[in-house]
Amino acid sequence: MNDRPNSRRTATLRPRSLSMPVVKADLAACQGYANCVVGATDYFDLDDDGIVVLLKTEVPEADRARVVEAARSCPVSALIVED
Ligand code: SF4
Repeated sequence: MNDRPNSRRTATLRPRSLSMPVVKADLAACQGYANCVVGATDYFDLDDDGIVVLLKTEVPEADRARVVEAARSCPVSALIVED
């Protein structure tokens, strides 16, 4: 309750991102080094041919730094995290 006359409680509405960053893989570039798997086992795995498999693509803010670092560790730049 506010005791000031004619005053209103207001809230600032900040635009909220409707989408999370997304991790993408260039499967043709992947050479199976597995650096990404070591960096984020919950996002990356290798298939039977040694090619990266994305276990999930949307990256919540809490995981962002770790997933970006794992993507950067790829020696052939096969992974990107897009906003
Ligand atoms: S680090 Fe790069 S090359 Fe190695 S498995 Fe991951 S995506 Fe493929």
